[in-house]
Amino acid sequence: MKTIFSGVQPSGIPTLGNYIGALQYFPEMQTDDSHCFYCVVNQHAITVPQDKAELKRNTRSLAALYIALGIDPNKSTVFVQSEVPAHAQLAWVLQCISTIGELERMTQYKDKSAGAESVSSALLTYPPLMAADILLYGTDIVPVGDDQKQHLELTRTLAERFNKRFNEIFTIPEVQIAKEGARIMSLQHPEKKMSKSDVNPKAYVSMLDTDAQIRKKIKSAVTDSEGVVVFNKEEKPGVSNLMTILRTCTKQSIAEIEAAYANKGYGDFKNDVAEAVVATIGPIRDRHDELVASTELDRILDEGAERANKVARKMLRKVEKAIGFTR
Ligand code: ATP
Ligand code: MG
Repeated sequence: MKTIFSGVQPSGIPTLGNYIGALQYFPEMQTDDSHCFYCVVNQHAITVPQDKAELKRNTRSLAALYIALGIDPNKSTVFVQSEVPAHAQLAWVLQCISTIGELERMTQYKDKSAGAESVSSALLTYPPLMAADILLYGTDIVPVGDDQKQHLELTRTLAERFNKRFNEIFTIPEVQIAKEGARIMSLQHPEKKMSKSDVNPKAYVSMLDTDAQIRKKIKSAVTDSEGVVVFNKEEKPGVSNLMTILRTCTKQSIAEIEAAYANKGYGDFKNDVAEAVVATIGPIRDRHDELVASTELDRILDEGAERANKVARKMLRKVEKAIGFTR
């Protein structure tokens, strides 16, 4: 039996990047031989300022999206991070065995703190909390986008360090990163990754955008002046990004896409990308809209928190025993 854990921050509405890099794999990881934990990581979201009402709305919305994607709450445990106190408790212990040097080397910390006048200390201590999320469940596999690879490596380091110093408690998790589309780029600045917390909504397609909004955003995506649909990440980052999007939405290969648009311009190409994205996202968004208003969602989350608490509390007890938090 394999344990899978993954999470998304309710720091905005999930994007096409989150979907292609991580979310699309969540349903297929539910097998007879796995137990999946899918978490709405709201404690991670507050490492940067959040509006209270929006955070609340985004938390429910993300949970609804999980279910809309095809996550079966009877098979998988879907829950909200702050409703399982062991996450913050273990995070503190893991912070105590992390060094400032190794946390300062994290590129997410560098990116998110760059240019900010004052930076929350939690932006620095984000990775030990993420390690706690994963280690509490004895996780074997963590499906995430490529930008989280460094945090996963640190999680493994912290788990090994703890096991060596105190007791062999933690499973060392493996990261699972998609071969294609593990890093979808911004539609407006294709040299940086697409992020749901981007201040410019034109930079991303959100999973809840209307069909009209999706078409508009794809059509105004930054490309180049060459007018040829060829894959070259360095020289043609905008076009290559759209090709990766088309590829994951239609399952065509890059070679097939290049051949199909050999004699066509960006207009036709973008049209097809937009329609492919509409076809991919539309049904998920519509299911989300039905679920988000339901009381069923709250029942799912209550049950999920109960199940997660049971597993997490057990692991926390082991940790407390190992470090001497007992009388
Ligand atoms: P934020 O800007 O608030 O950090 P985000 O868009 O980076 O939001 P996260 O909640 O941090 O989203 O990450 C959720 C999952 O989506 C992670 O597995 C992450 O690796 C993946 N992911 C994030 N951005 C991308 C992207 N541009 N392409 C592919 N996967 C991504
Ligand atoms: Mg992120």
